[in-house]
Amino acid sequence: MPSHQPVAGMSAIDPEYISQPSAQASPAEPNRNLKYDPKKPHITDSPITRGNWYKHVNWLNVFFILGIPLMGLISTYWTPLRWQTAVWTVIYYFCTGLGITAGYHRLWAHKSYSAALPLRIFLAGVGGGAVEGSIRWWSRDHRAHHRYTDTAKDPYSVRKGLLYSHIGWMIMKQNPKRIGRTDISDLNEDPVVVWQHRHYLKVVLFMGLIFPTLVAGIGWGDWMGGYIYAGILRIFFVQQATFCVNSLAHWLGDQPFDDRNSPRDHVITAFVTLGEGYHNFHHEFPSDYRNAIEWHQYDPTKWSIWVWSKLGLATGLKQFRSNEIEKGRVQQLQKKLDQKRSKLDWGIPLDQLPVIEWEDYVEQAKNGRGLIAVAGVVHDVTDFINEHPGGKALIRSGVGKDATAMFNGGVYLHSNGAHNLLSTMRVGVIRGGCEVEIWKRTQRENKDGIYLKDDAGNRIIRAGNQITKVEQPMTTASAA
Ligand SMILES: [Zn+2]
Ligand SMILES: [Zn+2]
Repeated sequence: MPSHQPVAGMSAIDPEYISQPSAQASPAEPNRNLKYDPKKPHITDSPITRGNWYKHVNWLNVFFILGIPLMGLISTYWTPLRWQTAVWTVIYYFCTGLGITAGYHRLWAHKSYSAALPLRIFLAGVGGGAVEGSIRWWSRDHRAHHRYTDTAKDPYSVRKGLLYSHIGWMIMKQNPKRIGRTDISDLNEDPVVVWQHRHYLKVVLFMGLIFPTLVAGIGWGDWMGGYIYAGILRIFFVQQATFCVNSLAHWLGDQPFDDRNSPRDHVITAFVTLGEGYHNFHHEFPSDYRNAIEWHQYDPTKWSIWVWSKLGLATGLKQFRSNEIEKGRVQQLQKKLDQKRSKLDWGIPLDQLPVIEWEDYVEQAKNGRGLIAVAGVVHDVTDFINEHPGGKALIRSGVGKDATAMFNGGVYLHSNGAHNLLSTMRVGVIRGGCEVEIWKRTQRENKDGIYLKDDAGNRIIRAGNQITKVEQPMTTASAA
């Protein structure tokens, strides 16, 4: 049971913590601890040493999160699992899991839809049965997680390690002052939230243990099985599953919408967390009632909310327009494309090439250098002559001349790949003369295409937009 919830009298709270509730608490909020003294130093202010490490550990949470499940596991040795209890455990697992995902998370923390009173009471009840703190405490931390993702103010930042984001943040004491501030005034106005917060311990005991035991006991006489399997072990599995939203969903998978922060999309996380696995999408569009936007993706939380809306229990289901969602996806794709493009050799940019006179070009070519001018750009093909797929003779016939027309269909219509390859061999541009005119004309005609640049300022060269690609080259005497 997470502990830094500012509820006086709640058993899962470390006694030391009770004197230091959330920095967010105000006198108007329920259960505010009047002994709160923000000036008193917190244990997390001193570094962990051999002498004080045990003071950093939240032993009560260790007992609740690991100790009790371990005892439950040992008890299974004497408690045979009956099939009715097994079915009930799975059903109640999904109910309490939905209490967290559809209730705590999508309804209260994100306001992604509105729920009628009976549904709110149901979700507050089964959510309490997952034993993960009250709605009010959980939502405040979760809003801080979204607002300060990956920073020191993120209560379960994955930057502190996968294990920390999964369970460490509850097992180690946290300084409540360090968790980012969030506005939960709306939650304080919801009587169901306030009631659940005030009576949290009773809700947890009843919904977490007593109710699942009663169902199995009254239903088919399996009191012990109901207590061990549908109670204790089910709590353990629901907790571990929902903790994966903080750990696995920030560690495993793709980032189709934004890769600047840690949230990721993965089907495994979705299966583990009742559909909360499309977490990159969720952090981009947190108030969308969906996590999975494709029909074939696993999101039983979304399906439940949708069914409730058909029953009139849920209204105002929020959805981002697909136009906005696709914009994000395209921008991320563009970013990846730019990164990929920047790793390729596109040839020396034209404006960085030395300008040489036509006469010098001809002279150098006569002296044995394999220089070929195409569209005013000089290429050194010396090392390529022997590899030329069209044979040595053809390529040699262009050396020292304006080969624009030859290259663009006068002799052979070269492929896009050939233009790309040619660009990697360029060594200079010709000053003056008709070749530069061709270049200028090409630039004018393809202005948008030629001058497009990516984020890094590199020119984007699309297929067919290479400088050497000229549709109707001017024929000149030298090109003949
Ligand atoms: Zn997250
Ligand atoms: Zn969220």
